[in-house]
Amino acid sequence: MSIGTKTEPNRAGVKSGTTVAPDVSGHVAAPHNLFDTVRRQFDKACDLISFDPNVRRILAKSTNEISVNFFTGYRVQHNSSRGPFKGGLRFHPSVDINEVRALAAWMTWKTAIADIPFGGAKGGIQIDPSKYSKRELERITRRFTFALGDNIGPEYDIPAPDVNTNPQIMAWILDTYLSTMPPHTRQGAAHVVTGKPLVSGGSQGRDKATGQGLVYLLEEWAKDQKLSVGKLSYFVQGFGNVGSWAARILAPLGAKLLAVEDHTGAVANEAGLDAEDLCNFARTAGGVRGYPKAKPVDHDTFLSTKADVFIPAALENQITARTAPLLNVRLVAEGGNGPTDWDGDSIMQERGIGVLPDILCNAGGVIVSYFEWLQNKRSEFWDLEEVDSKLKRRMSAAYRSVRDTASSYKTDWRTAAYIVALTRLETVYKERGIFP
Ligand code: GLU
Repeated sequence: MSIGTKTEPNRAGVKSGTTVAPDVSGHVAAPHNLFDTVRRQFDKACDLISFDPNVRRILAKSTNEISVNFFTGYRVQHNSSRGPFKGGLRFHPSVDINEVRALAAWMTWKTAIADIPFGGAKGGIQIDPSKYSKRELERITRRFTFALGDNIGPEYDIPAPDVNTNPQIMAWILDTYLSTMPPHTRQGAAHVVTGKPLVSGGSQGRDKATGQGLVYLLEEWAKDQKLSVGKLSYFVQGFGNVGSWAARILAPLGAKLLAVEDHTGAVANEAGLDAEDLCNFARTAGGVRGYPKAKPVDHDTFLSTKADVFIPAALENQITARTAPLLNVRLVAEGGNGPTDWDGDSIMQERGIGVLPDILCNAGGVIVSYFEWLQNKRSEFWDLEEVDSKLKRRMSAAYRSVRDTASSYKTDWRTAAYIVALTRLETVYKERGIFP
């Protein structure tokens, strides 16, 4: 077996692949290159604002693409003009270079919209973690970290949790990275990774941050619609970190959870589901399937649920030409990355369904990652109240800039979010100039 890392600006060193993305119920969508979706979204926004052609050329590609060949693993560093590369690391069998490329570019837009001093990156290992023991996952994680070597670093590229990765995995990354450093430099490097367990330098509120940010955003949207979040009905696809936290935070506010789908199946209850109870059930049963206080429903029935809000918080390409016509909601709040493909987006626009786009809607995770990074650098520990109030302020500011941009350009919210990000990135390049 070979182990190798390679850094090649703008060249993958791997041939372009396509993602055959199964949706959560096992439907296999048509072969789909996720990076094409990013390019189309990007091109639409660039055309609308007559974006600088040189900056456009730079942002259309990744800066570095690293592939690790012990298993199939990648780290794609899209852009660092606004700060260190930043983004999660996922363990999933569908990980491929085009997916990681797309996810890395979305991180660049996301950190710019959130106005935090980071760029964008993403990593992934093509494995199904449920097939490995804890000990094996530790070895895979450590090997991957070691192979990445100096391609990550506290002021250079900072990984974090994503699909199927968690604080434990971040702790192994931290430990492996620190082990390769001279002892006297180790104390100052805890911010090489975020989403760590609290005792290893993690932040209060990081675990729930993406779900919490989504709820803050939903409150802003509801206020503009003269609605109250407590009166909304909603359903959630994906019951991992983002979906389950969003539901658990919405529950005490009074919002009504009508249905939940994960990789094991979908369950619904018109009278409302108890998010906390369902979460406990799913934790022991390995998924929501078989939950006794709800009825099982099929995938299309689940998507057709009549509600105010749909929160897709699973994998990519869930809302497509086939599934977008099924939706029966006023708003889609994208908790996961890339749940909507190009056709799905157009259909939702035609049908007047509002969208809080992923690069705005799920920015809470990376915002609290930024807070964790700052706390580590300053040797501080903030309490939960401080983290939450700072997160709320940033989510609200991001919401307002996207909303106002959508109205001044008379465009959809996803394109408006791109415009906010691209304008901030363009300013950096214009101020500094492009070398040589
Ligand atoms: N994986 C999360 C995302 O997609 C968080 C990334 C981070 O905290 O760096 O936004």
